[in-house]
Amino acid sequence: MCGIIGIYGNPEASNLAYLGLYAQQHRGQEGAGIVTIDDRGAHRHMGQGLVSDVFSNRKVVESLPGSRAIGHTRYSTTGGLDAKNVGPLLFNVQNQPVAIAHNGNLVNLKATRLRLQRDGAIFQTSTDTEIIIHLMARSNAKRMVDRTVDALSQVEGAYSLLILTPEGLIAARDPRGWRPFVIGRLGESWVFASETCALDLIGAQVLRDVQPGEVLQIDDDGLATVHQLPAQPLKHCIFEYVYFARPDSRIFGDNVDKMRRKLGITLADEAPAPGADITISVPDSSNTAALGYADRSGIRHEIGLIRNHYVGRSFIRPEQRLRDLTVKLKFNTVKGVLEDREVVIVDDSIVRGTTMRRLVRLLRQAGVKKVHVRIASPPIRHPCHFGLDFPTEQELIAGRDSVDQIREYLEADTLEYLSLDGLRNSMDRPGDQFCTACFSGDYPIVPEAGSDKQIFENSVAGAD
Ligand code: 5GP
Ligand code: MG
Repeated sequence: MCGIIGIYGNPEASNLAYLGLYAQQHRGQEGAGIVTIDDRGAHRHMGQGLVSDVFSNRKVVESLPGSRAIGHTRYSTTGGLDAKNVGPLLFNVQNQPVAIAHNGNLVNLKATRLRLQRDGAIFQTSTDTEIIIHLMARSNAKRMVDRTVDALSQVEGAYSLLILTPEGLIAARDPRGWRPFVIGRLGESWVFASETCALDLIGAQVLRDVQPGEVLQIDDDGLATVHQLPAQPLKHCIFEYVYFARPDSRIFGDNVDKMRRKLGITLADEAPAPGADITISVPDSSNTAALGYADRSGIRHEIGLIRNHYVGRSFIRPEQRLRDLTVKLKFNTVKGVLEDREVVIVDDSIVRGTTMRRLVRLLRQAGVKKVHVRIASPPIRHPCHFGLDFPTEQELIAGRDSVDQIREYLEADTLEYLSLDGLRNSMDRPGDQFCTACFSGDYPIVPEAGSDKQIFENSVAGAD
């Protein structure tokens, strides 16, 4: 997953982009970057790490001139941890700078990439995003926005895209509307972001979503929808509501807070824990769902885990060795709250099981009598090919093990997940408008064999 931000027509463009990235840090912590374009050409600063690290010297932000900027926080899906994969990517097409920031993941790329390579394309990165640039470079269309339409007509998958060129700022969203993407206004200037929390921070008004399948351009004449890609059934990522987006954002037309609370409420109906003394959340990601659970069940909510806020999202560290350590660095127990109590611990999801296994142990050490684990989403059994960095089926604990085996592994007294129907029915719009592939295995686009992240990496490594 990634966060993207675009600013058009503001003398403070790079500063606003920086703030927009800051607000969207939760969407990617591996790297960050900003590109601006002015009369003299493109200006870029990017690096690995948090936004505050990459731009620790604020003068760097100010040194990116111009009234147009795009920015990107990276979380790798296709393409490894390599610094060259940090966005926005910047290339020359027909002697013009073209910068691109992408949230999502393109699928079924192998044939396209091989075809491009046979035609002489030299890939600079191992990202899926770069393919769009090569397709744009090969288009015969005159305007960059028409080249973009040509390119997007040849790819499939999930994308919320910002492309900055000297001609203007292009925004495009895949026809299924997989990832969130919103347009706002700040005075006379235009703002694009993955989540509305970025617009809130810089004081921009939300105008509307970039529509699924819409390709639009902002230039000095204003906003024009240039093309509408052929319609497809909507498939918003339901996991955005479960975990990814910030609760203070509105995505896909609904408040994340409201939807996440409903997941907790439905979970309380489906999986009560009679006899429990308190509920606790796993801060911060499950706070909202746990409130829903507590409200509905009538079990008192307490703050039993304290999170060290200076440690990043544990899951985002891609190596297991580091992940183990960060769970412990991240949480400690409030013993007075937990001792001799029967506790419901609500988390939003279990991926590998690392976090919850450690937490159950910490709760026991704090003197908890009984641990009831409640998960506000169904078991994650299948990898995501559309923008989440979920591992292979073998690494996903629910891809391998039954719920009872997982309970044993976690050393919990009870374990219950939200049902898939419970998840779908908690939504305010029809459940079939969401992609639930990670839970159901029902992939809206069937990924070609071997499109797993590591396999893709290996297949492209050395091929350039
Ligand atoms: P696990 O330790 O089971 O591998 O991961 C579960 C924890 O990671 C949960 O606390 C959940 O909030 C968080 N999580 C779930 N999905 C994701 C994800 O896609 N990215 C990140 N960074 N964290 C996740
Ligand atoms: Mg969490």
